[in-house]
Order: sequence, then C-alpha cells, then structure tokens
Amino acid sequence: MLIPNLPTPLQPLIDEVTLRADLQLFIKRDDLIHPTVSGNKWRKLKYVLDDARRKGHPALLTFGGAWSNHLYATAAAGKMLGKKTIGVVRGEEYEAKPTGTLAYCREQGMELHYISRENYRSKDTPDFREYLNQKFNYPYIIPEGGSTALALPGVGEVVFETEIQLNAKPDHFAVAAGTGGTAAGLLATSSPTLAFSALKNGSFLRKEILDLAQTPDVEDKLHLFTDYHFGGYARHRPELLTFMQDFERKHKILIEHVYTGKMLFGLYDLIKKGFFKKGTTIVAIHTGGLQGRSHEKA
Ligand SMILES: *Cc1c(COP(=O)(O)O)cnc(C)c1O
Repeated sequence: MLIPNLPTPLQPLIDEVTLRADLQLFIKRDDLIHPTVSGNKWRKLKYVLDDARRKGHPALLTFGGAWSNHLYATAAAGKMLGKKTIGVVRGEEYEAKPTGTLAYCREQGMELHYISRENYRSKDTPDFREYLNQKFNYPYIIPEGGSTALALPGVGEVVFETEIQLNAKPDHFAVAAGTGGTAAGLLATSSPTLAFSALKNGSFLRKEILDLAQTPDVEDKLHLFTDYHFGGYARHRPELLTFMQDFERKHKILIEHVYTGKMLFGLYDLIKKGFFKKGTTIVAIHTGGLQGRSHEKA
C-alpha cells in the first residue's frame, strides 16, 4: 500500500554543538514516510502519480543511475498501484552486473532499459522522447529524480506540516540537493532554503532550483552550498563517515552518506563556524534513502 505515515515526526536535535550555538535545530523525519517509497521521493511522486492515473498511459517510464533512489521508489510505487514501470538506466555496463537497487527494481516488475552515458545526456531531447514513445507505446514519462512542476506541491506539504508542528515558521529549511527538485519545492512556498549539493561542481544547481521553483522573488531565499560533496556523488571520506557514526549514536537516527549525511555534515559545520545567529530555528529534512547505506557493505 502506498499509504504514508503522515505527518512525519519533527524531532529536536540537542547536542553540544546546537547548545553552544544557542539555536534550535530540528530534523523532519521524512525517512519514516513509507518503507519503500521513502522521503522526498514519496513527496515528489504524490501528485505525479495522481496525474499519471488520470491520464491513463499504459506505463510509467523514468530515468536514473544504477543507485537511483528515484528508480527504486518508482518501481515500488508502480507495483503497489498495479501500474507497469519502465526504468531507463544510465550506463550499459550495469545490464551484466546490476546493482542492488536495479535488482530490487526488477523484482518489483520494472522493465529496465540500459543506455550509454552519451545517450543518457540527450534523454530529454525531442528525438529521444520520440524513440521512447515508439518503443514503449507512449508511456507517462517522469523526468529524472521525479523533479517536475508536479513535484512541487507534494514537497510544499512538508513545509505546511512543519509549520503546524512548530507552531511557527522556521528561519531556514535545510535539504540535500541532487536534481534540486526538493529544494525547489521548499522554495516555491517562499521558505528560506539551505540546499547542500550532493554532487561535485554543484553550482549549476542554483539555476536548476530557481527554474524549477518558478516563483517570483525567491532568489535571496536560496542559499546553495557546494563544498560538502566529499569528492562527488555517492563518494565519501573518513571524516564524513566518522561524523555520521557520531550523529547516529548521539541521536539514534540512521542517515546515509549520499544525501542526508552530507547535508547534516555541512549544516553542523556552518553552525560551528557561527554562520547562524543565536535563537535561529532550522529544520533539516531527512530525505530518506536508507537503502543507500552501502558504505556499510563496502
Ligand atoms: C533523490 C534524493 C535527494 C535529492 O533530491 P532532489 O530533489 O533530486 O534534489 C535527497 N535525498 C535523498 C535520500 C534522495 O533519495
């Protein structure tokens, strides 16, 4: 069943760093929203799936890398909704050696179609779309990461939930950014948003987020941090893993190293450096993706 656990808990993070800085930090536990369609993927897919159901295409088609939480969530949601799913995977080499994520997608009945990195770069061109339409009989196409205009209202609901739980508007929301769709959803509610790039050279995300948000006068409300990528997407370094272990032990909350671990590392680093005034209220969003805790297996 696709029924979510809503509202997700809002928990205070009290430790020596937040106490010394004299500010209030909370974590919004969107990792608990659903066991397989977790975190921001559930929020982003909510209205996209409604739209797909209304339009009645024969299948849902979407895109992702070999460890994509979005492919994972779409495969799980499609299975629960009784809708056929097709995943277009970046990198032909994974056909011979599927990752755990891809194996899971296949178990859920997702049809996987592997393409080269070069073709993947042109996946949004009209020619490639036409190829996909012909090959898969006009499926409902969801862009990479599920980041479309229809993803924004679903993400916006996390803001309204939080404001009810806090009985106030926080001074900042903090979130990890991959495609930037989640950050755009926060920004589209005019909420001050701290976005932490999970990718190397993430400064392009600023324009992506603002373009997706399509909301006037929010440029100044977006703060993008690009220095907490730890070598690039899904990469990690010992200091990140040490921080995560420490955080998990202290707060009894599991995180992963691809997104939320990096965002929290960055946020704590900013707090320690005195970036925030005393009395500031920050809500960090745990976007889920705990099936990506692969550093444990490595
Ligand atoms: C996909 C994902 C993100 C990134 O979300 P975008 O909307 O693509 O920026 C962050 N955290 C987790 C756990 C994710 O799976």
